[in-house]
Amino acid sequence: MVFKLNLTLSFMGNEELLEELKKEVENANLPLKEGSTNVVMGKGNSSAEIMFTGEAPGAREDEQGMPFVGAAGKNLDKLLANVGLSLQNVYVANILKYRPPENRAPSVEEIKLHTPYLLKQIEIIKPKVVCSLGNYATKFFLALGNVEEMDSQPGITQVHGKVKMIKLKGLDIKLIPLFHPAAIIYNRKLIVEWDKDMEIVKKEISQKNLL
Ligand code: URA
Repeated sequence: MVFKLNLTLSFMGNEELLEELKKEVENANLPLKEGSTNVVMGKGNSSAEIMFTGEAPGAREDEQGMPFVGAAGKNLDKLLANVGLSLQNVYVANILKYRPPENRAPSVEEIKLHTPYLLKQIEIIKPKVVCSLGNYATKFFLALGNVEEMDSQPGITQVHGKVKMIKLKGLDIKLIPLFHPAAIIYNRKLIVEWDKDMEIVKKEISQKNLL
């Protein structure tokens, strides 16, 4: 029985595996599920070598069941297009799979219970580069998924644009922390920093022929 299931999974493509994972999340009794309209998993190329990871869905994302479709998402699309990237080359997901009320910060408990599914997305997609967007995603990856250790990690202002090799679920991943696109919408200083950081992302992906 187990053998048959494994055999079935090994014949499934990434899209199908991600669909199965979505069903698993919907069936799980996750915090924030009650009060949300939709689960928000991911979008983009399911075989992409670059994955962007944000914090949590907002109101638009909750309505549409899709990450980064509101104001922050529009900004992310624009910022990616500036360097020739689009959803054809990248995959986009979040730490949390459901929207926290009033977009409040995620709790430790919520991060603990939601991130096993982010790690499963990573196991399926196997990205070579992960760009973490903002403090929560960055601290999660710097803590190598140990949520209790997130608090003791440096913040995004200190580490943005600094490439770090990490090992997650047996995968070697190049982590590139970036400011959150919502934070830089109206902040000229941060846009300048973002542009510099994206030069680093571009260099990493061109070296590795990731596109
Ligand atoms: N901010 C995020 O971090 N994720 C989204 O999906 C939308 C806004």
